[in-house]
Amino acid sequence: INWFPGHMHKATKEIKQRLPSVDLIIEVLDARIPYSSANPVIAKLRGDKPCIKLLNKSDLADPEITKRWIEHFEQDKSVRSMAVTSHKPDQIRAILQDVRSLFADNFERGRPIHIMITGIPNVGKSTIINILAQRTIAKTGNEPAVTKGQQKINLPDGLFLWDTPGILWGKFHNQSAAYRLATTGAIKETAVSNDDIAAWAAEYLLRAYPDALVKRYELASTPRDEIDFLEQAGKRRGCISRGNQIDFEKIAKIFLTEYRDATLGLLSLETPEMAQAEEAEVEAKL
Ligand code: GDP
Repeated sequence: INWFPGHMHKATKEIKQRLPSVDLIIEVLDARIPYSSANPVIAKLRGDKPCIKLLNKSDLADPEITKRWIEHFEQDKSVRSMAVTSHKPDQIRAILQDVRSLFADNFERGRPIHIMITGIPNVGKSTIINILAQRTIAKTGNEPAVTKGQQKINLPDGLFLWDTPGILWGKFHNQSAAYRLATTGAIKETAVSNDDIAAWAAEYLLRAYPDALVKRYELASTPRDEIDFLEQAGKRRGCISRGNQIDFEKIAKIFLTEYRDATLGLLSLETPEMAQAEEAEVEAKL
């Protein structure tokens, strides 16, 4: 999977320029893929600048794994991390309390606090901004890859929120990360075939959560591999094309939709250990 439209270069440059002058970064991550949905530029350039990592869409993620991610992130003393869902505005508003305690000094002296917020398309960043701003600032919607320019938003109590374009960066070195982004729907469906994404997702989910798949598709036994799974599930759902062949495209779509809306259950796609191993592998290749 490969993608890196020109506007991403511009957006990356904007983030790099803004970063040194902000007091805090709020990184909105997808709780199902906290590593693959994180901006590598931030990871590289943040240093020990305070950072709040919001694991959004935690209503769709495996709670046990989300807990492990939070512990993992908070090993870094400059990071606070919490599981949220932007469908619960109280959880989002509570972040401002954290900001106040982090910057108690600034508040006392009436100094402004500049916050940069980042997040890939469709991660829920606009919904979060609108809650923090208590008014509609950013357009929300389920369509990925809508790029918006940088903008400064005034929040109450001397807080300034710098929005950054919702971009997806190229992860050329890590195909697994790309497939995870595709599985959650962060990469537009047209960029790569559904069969291919579904096969990748099935392979992982069969290893991590076999019972969830067997149960949902009422399979007689645990499939041997992802193709066997798609065939069995396809039969179950009547995805048969002419000549009595399995319609892979059709079952792929059903399977991905049911993953994305958590009909399959609360299933995460990566653990901190996996991310660390992949990161080491990427480093070794460079
Ligand atoms: P943005 O592209 O990052 O600004 O994302 P939006 O705020 O526009 O949200 C994208 C889609 O994700 C919308 O359909 C939201 O309803 C949905 N969404 C946002 N936050 C959550 C969440 O916490 N849980 C779930 N299940 N869906 C969410």
